[in-house]
Amino acid sequence: MTQDAQTPNLETREFQADVKQVLDIVIHSLYTHREIFIRELISNAADALEKLRYVQLENQNIADADLPLEIRIDVDEEKKTFTISDTGIGLTKDDAVKNLGSIAHSGSREFLEKLKESGGDANLIGQFGVGFYSVFMAADSVVVQSRSAEPKAGGIEWRSEGTGSYQIGPAPALSRGTRITAHLRDDAHEFSSADRVKSVIEQYSNFVPFDIYLNGDKVNTVQAIWTRNKNDISDDDYTEFFKFIGNEHTDPSFRLHFSADAPLQINALLFVPQQNFEKLGFGKLDPGVNLYCKKVLIQEKSKTILPDWLRFVKGVVDSEDLPLNISRETMQNNALVTKLKTVVTKRFIKFLNEEANKDAEAYAKFWEQFGGFIKEGVAVDLEHRDALAPLLRFESSNEEAGKRISLTDYAARMKTGQDKIYYAFGVNRKSIEAGPYMEAFRASGTEVLFLFDPADEFVLNGLREFDGKAFVSADQAELDLPENKEESKDDEKPGLNKDQAESLAGWFKSILGERVGAVRESKRLVDSPAILVNSDSYFTTSMQRIMKSMNQEMPAAGAHNLEINPKHPLMIRLVELKNENADDAFLATAAEQIYDAARIAAGLDTEPQTLIQRSHAILEKALGAKTGS
Ligand code: ADP
Repeated sequence: MTQDAQTPNLETREFQADVKQVLDIVIHSLYTHREIFIRELISNAADALEKLRYVQLENQNIADADLPLEIRIDVDEEKKTFTISDTGIGLTKDDAVKNLGSIAHSGSREFLEKLKESGGDANLIGQFGVGFYSVFMAADSVVVQSRSAEPKAGGIEWRSEGTGSYQIGPAPALSRGTRITAHLRDDAHEFSSADRVKSVIEQYSNFVPFDIYLNGDKVNTVQAIWTRNKNDISDDDYTEFFKFIGNEHTDPSFRLHFSADAPLQINALLFVPQQNFEKLGFGKLDPGVNLYCKKVLIQEKSKTILPDWLRFVKGVVDSEDLPLNISRETMQNNALVTKLKTVVTKRFIKFLNEEANKDAEAYAKFWEQFGGFIKEGVAVDLEHRDALAPLLRFESSNEEAGKRISLTDYAARMKTGQDKIYYAFGVNRKSIEAGPYMEAFRASGTEVLFLFDPADEFVLNGLREFDGKAFVSADQAELDLPENKEESKDDEKPGLNKDQAESLAGWFKSILGERVGAVRESKRLVDSPAILVNSDSYFTTSMQRIMKSMNQEMPAAGAHNLEINPKHPLMIRLVELKNENADDAFLATAAEQIYDAARIAAGLDTEPQTLIQRSHAILEKALGAKTGS
């Protein structure tokens, strides 16, 4: 303990070893987002004011009881200083030694080491419980003057240059609270500019619940509206707030403002914008929800408070249950944050369901922009998958183009005896409707969901079922449609008998060999001669197409089964010609052509050159042309 030469009342003390290392990193290794030291100091000031408010509530005797609770920042471009004062709880000498000379939590230094290694982004420093020391990113000399709220405590002064030691001693004639003066480094003079500091305050601390004055002017005009009563907030207030936090220029499309006291204390104000910039090709969105504890920003654009698929949501989640020292913990591993995340996510999904029921048109617009995120949620978020399913929307065979229905709608109008939800995948509506797969559904009047987005089938495969009804692809083998069970009107049409059909199927198999699985008589075809169906319920034809388009290695899917239509004139004629011992080679050509047409209808690759040559050969025969060869 040595006496300071210039200020005889100050004694010099060594920083704790950990602090020295932290300071070394802060001063030499954090390069980006240095301005966050302002947020850290404001946050500490707000904390100190909160603590004072608490003491006041308890009716305890405090010094300078009449002082307003506020934060004042003064910058001086000539002196190159940044000063922040608060009228909060203040520091006694013991407090200062303990809080500004050591690090309360072990592990902070290790965190900081990692921060340094990960590129020196100071933005995360507040999470390591060493926020105060961040002032040394911008200052080469710091003076803290403080007077505790404890009526009998005297004022103190603390000084340091951020090297190995600090000085501390009594300071007379201070009023309650803390004043921190930062003498700015040569490369940090920007923080003595009121404009610069104002923009930092607006970015990080606008919703601090205490007035902040900058060189005498109040800067945080926007209040922490999420903690106010809904009835006291106008639509304009909400919109202004949304534009501010979301950096948006248009009104929000949805807004959810809710408070809860159990199981956790929460005030949340969440918005859905009008436009999805991700869809516009702007790359993956950053999350848009800030996490607050008692109106003090804990984590901007929090990745932990909502699941990733809700990254399009903007707003604020504030919970008093978060410990004041939440910044000292890694958020991800905090059980409380995890709980908070579940509660808020569930509430938001419920809200979307309510909105969808209330105003289908507004929800349709939402779906247009943000449906992709809901699908992502269903695909990746097991915890909320089932709750999300009713939010999905699809076009359907029973609706006009462009109109989408929910799975709930589908289930509600399923036919008696129908226990599955059918879907067909295709590039567009026309191609699905024109294909042979819809024939049976049309004939039996069964509704089919139309999927156009390659992701849709993953989504349904992930869900597996809705309301106890399994999803089944329309190109699936062994379709069991309600009316087909009755085998009614189909029997009236003339066609091959069972033996003929079986023998024709065998003949097709002998020609097509391994290219097809089984060849069977079809129960579903009305107009087409033949159809390829999936023998595998997971790797459906559409799934294979998707995987191929993504250049994905395809698991060895079983070959498709071929179903032939025993009532089709082509099939009937083939049997006749076989009985008449017609030219084998020509009949085989016809079988190949029928097979290729079925491939095309299934969206599978075909060899166009072969197809064209074969069709010319058939045409020549049909037209009775004289072959040159
Ligand atoms: P944290 O805020 O995460 O605890 P800091 O390094 O920012 O870590 O601050 C250390 C401690 O110093 C605080 O916990 C608080 O006790 C004290 N402190 C800092 N600023 C102030 C202030 N303006 N008024 C009173 N106490 C303060």
